[in-house]
Amino acid sequence: MTAALSVDELHVAYRSVPALRGVSLAAAPGEVVAVVGPNGAGKSTLLAAIMRMVRWGAGDVTVGGRSLAGLTPDAVARSKVALVPEGRQIFANLTVEENLRLGLIARVGRTPASDRAAIAEVHALFPIVGEFARRAAGVLSGGQQQQLAIARALVADPDVLLLDEPSLGLAPTVIDHVFDSLAAVRTMGRTIVIVEQRAQRTIAFADRSYVLADGRIRDVLAPGDAGDSDRLRAAYFGVDTERDDQ
Ligand code: ATP
Repeated sequence: MTAALSVDELHVAYRSVPALRGVSLAAAPGEVVAVVGPNGAGKSTLLAAIMRMVRWGAGDVTVGGRSLAGLTPDAVARSKVALVPEGRQIFANLTVEENLRLGLIARVGRTPASDRAAIAEVHALFPIVGEFARRAAGVLSGGQQQQLAIARALVADPDVLLLDEPSLGLAPTVIDHVFDSLAAVRTMGRTIVIVEQRAQRTIAFADRSYVLADGRIRDVLAPGDAGDSDRLRAAYFGVDTERDDQ
């Protein structure tokens, strides 16, 4: 089966300082894949590189088997890939509905009926986005803004949804709601890639988790590995936790 998303030996550097040093990963259609790792590991750079917002040094990214090499970020957005950016980046002075409509811009083959259907779909998924449609987005709570940011990405009808630290800055109970939202998105059959520093919850949620540290994939974990803090620590910090009993 063709991967929904495939990242192959991707290298990215800022000036001459490497941020991604040959990263490879893949997600099948409908899979939830996580990329976890410490501060500065390259997680946001990976998502920016998939969106072609930073230059690739070497390597390739394909979506549904088609290479994104040479595309502008705008063209990537029209290739059924949508990013929910870190910090949500909601326009506080626009209404919830206006924020949502911005997401429609990247939708391919729009008609007034398909726009209405897309908005109705996210209203069903996130009722708050419908109830508060005419309010300024800035009055929503952090968790509600995260729902709006996810909804804004979904109306573009992405096959691949990228989320950069969706739980960042949210209270634990609100994070529960965010994961509930992602569970609802998962049922839609779209491929989800979540980047998170909060590892355990994300690893338990994802079908597969890649540990990225210092620009390299250090380990690949299954949901059942979420509680293996020794293994996680080793992958995050490069510490060899195996005891030498000799
Ligand atoms: P965090 O969890 O802190 O967001 P991250 O895993 O997302 O970290 P990146 O933000 O991708 O990591 O950063 C990877 C490396 O690239 C870091 O060393 C960072 O300092 C560097 N970097 C990121 N953005 C830039 C930039 N615009 N210019 C120069 N260096 C950058």
